Amino acid sequence: MRPPFRRSVRGHLEAIEDLLAPALRDAGSEPLELVQALGRTLAHDLLAPRALPPWDNSQMDGYAVHTGDLGSGALRVVAPIAAGQAAAALVRGTAAPIMTGAPMPEGANTVIPVEAAVPDRFPTTAEVADGFTVVLPDSSPVGNYVRARGSDIAEGALVLEAGTRLGPTALGIVAGLGLAEVQVHSRPRVLLLSTGDELVAPGGELGPGQIHDANTTLLHTALTGAGCQVAVAGVLDDSPEQFTTSLRAALMAGDRDYHLVLSSGGISKGAFDVVKAVLGEHGIEFGSVAMQPGGPQGSGTLILPGCAPVAFIALPGNPVSAYVSFEMFIRPVLAMALGLPERVLTTATLTEDLDSVPGKLQVRRGSYANGTVAPVGGASSHLLAALAASNAFILLDEETTTLPAGSRADIMIIGDGS
Ligand code: AMP
Ligand code: MG
Repeated sequence: MRPPFRRSVRGHLEAIEDLLAPALRDAGSEPLELVQALGRTLAHDLLAPRALPPWDNSQMDGYAVHTGDLGSGALRVVAPIAAGQAAAALVRGTAAPIMTGAPMPEGANTVIPVEAAVPDRFPTTAEVADGFTVVLPDSSPVGNYVRARGSDIAEGALVLEAGTRLGPTALGIVAGLGLAEVQVHSRPRVLLLSTGDELVAPGGELGPGQIHDANTTLLHTALTGAGCQVAVAGVLDDSPEQFTTSLRAALMAGDRDYHLVLSSGGISKGAFDVVKAVLGEHGIEFGSVAMQPGGPQGSGTLILPGCAPVAFIALPGNPVSAYVSFEMFIRPVLAMALGLPERVLTTATLTEDLDSVPGKLQVRRGSYANGTVAPVGGASSHLLAALAASNAFILLDEETTTLPAGSRADIMIIGDGS
């Protein structure tokens, strides 16, 4: 068992990065149908398999003509070209009605919108057969109202870089290029467990001294929102023997192949801090990080006899401590690996005085709007309702002991927690 560490916030983030980033790289990739790939991360650079548009086509309903035929009187109108048809070559001295998106006929090099023609309408089939003619403007730039082949993207060009998070617009271009599937990073598999003999799953009746387990849901959804696939082990027992048995069983159940095991609770200085008591013997280091809440932390590669070694992060039990720890240490590493948008760090005008402990990064919860941030709830790490009412963390650095109302405070936008 190693002596407890003392780390800065940056130092612990680096330790988590060193532990988790290689594990996430092992997660591999998989092909997915486009709609299923929403929010997933592209595994490889995507090159255009064809040009877009695939051929020159009209941007307007109008007449396809050759510029050399303009200014020489009325032109005979030939059969119209509809979208979805192959176009016959244009005979010089004629004009072809062409619809938006229809291919430009060979021999035409410009499109005159129908509104600019005299008469400003298309002829009927009978009128075409009767030798209908049209008067067009005397000139038009070559390529006017023509969407050139490859003007959107050239064949072979880089469309989306590896690591792009796929939203509707990215998936739209993939579909436009005719691809039915994309190769995306597989979701990292996380085994999630809570500890605490006082915990009862939501929906259950509370006995004396019991509380409901908030962390399993909080961390399950935070991990899912950050692109992970979560297996829930539930609440493990606070007795060392039973904890070890249940942890081993959870690691051996299911597909077993986890990239991360995440626990909450049981790592502070109490008499029943089972995670620390047991896992200190199995490769996990425990110590404190200069942050409040979220001071106690544990991390390392779990080596349990009979189980494959796996990255393990032990978070403190208070729900706010657990969530702040997730945002400060885990989400940034997931964001880097999975192309999630990073949290926005900015400043805002503080609406009331805040105190902070020297030597620690103080993370307070706040409500941010229009350039100001109002603290929500106090500093205590059991304040779940205040956390739910917040959309930002207010960050008071190690040197700051008090920040008066009206000063600019560093904040991190956590939005809806996804
Ligand atoms: P611990 O770190 O296990 O001593 O837990 C610290 C505090 O967080 C205690 O008040 C616990 O009851 C509470 N706590 C621990 N785990 C959870 C959880 N999953 N949901 C809600 N509260 C918890
Ligand atoms: Mg506990």
